[in-house]
Amino acid sequence: MKIEIRGLSKIYPNGKHALSDINLTIENGMFGLLGPNGAGKSSLIRILVTLLTPTTGQVSFNGFDLMKDRGEIRSILGYLPQDFRFFSKLKTWEFLDYAAGLAGIRSKSIRREKVDEWLEKVGLFDARDRLANNLSGGMKRRLGIAQALIGSPKIIIVDEPTTGLDPEERIRFRNILSELSQQDIIILLSTHIVGDISSMCRELALLNEGEIQFNGPPEVLVEKARGHVWQVQTAGVEYDILKEKYAVTSTIPSEDGWEIQLVGDRLDLPSAVEIEPNLEHAYVYFMETVIV
Ligand code: ADP
Repeated sequence: MKIEIRGLSKIYPNGKHALSDINLTIENGMFGLLGPNGAGKSSLIRILVTLLTPTTGQVSFNGFDLMKDRGEIRSILGYLPQDFRFFSKLKTWEFLDYAAGLAGIRSKSIRREKVDEWLEKVGLFDARDRLANNLSGGMKRRLGIAQALIGSPKIIIVDEPTTGLDPEERIRFRNILSELSQQDIIILLSTHIVGDISSMCRELALLNEGEIQFNGPPEVLVEKARGHVWQVQTAGVEYDILKEKYAVTSTIPSEDGWEIQLVGDRLDLPSAVEIEPNLEHAYVYFMETVIV
């Protein structure tokens, strides 16, 4: 599988440039689209799932053109939007059966098999006869996952993957995705939460104000922050001053005050110790220092 995005821009009717000249190649495995709110992630995703027309540019999925071959592209696409609305009168299993039909599974018996398989996989088998609308937030999210995956899509697009999931459900979801990522498919995770992608993504793109600021493996992004991440031990009083001057990534109470991690180019702090960067540090470093 391969998605190629070339010269993609989106200008909304009010003149807002949500995406400017995006160029990306996305191949098999898990790919993270990371950026703060307003970066343009949803605009890009809505274009990829054929719900929004770009202003300029081309997108191809394994050679299929996004504008010309919508039918083919929709048949290989599974989409899990952030807020998923169900049909109020459908039971959980009926909703999945409906989704399987939309995904092109015509045989009723195969649909039933798939429905049971996915109810089991996402832990909703016992809730199969409940109205989809009456499920809890976490259960709805799991049903959303099942509907996105039941048609065995080749490209799976997930918007804000961990929204509304408790820690246990988050792990279950990650396991489903990492199992899938072993196959010949693309999983695109769009998120503003670094933790959603750090452990799972082979590659990521950092989006800010409609532009790609970085594209590559997470380790390469992390390396860029080396030499710019510091730990400082302070008494409480200095905290506000530090916060004014530097990007603070974590604050941990310690015996005699606070252990604070900071990201920045230069530090006028004799007690600062350079530490090993992680993806969270690298993201903050990029957003606060490199881009501005
Ligand atoms: P993200 O998903 O990263 O939060 P969006 O793609 O939703 O970013 O938004 C990118 C920018 O485009 C934001 O400034 C947002 O306000 C603007 N925007 C999004 N949708 C519309 C729209 N329909 N009309 C005008 N501006 C929009």
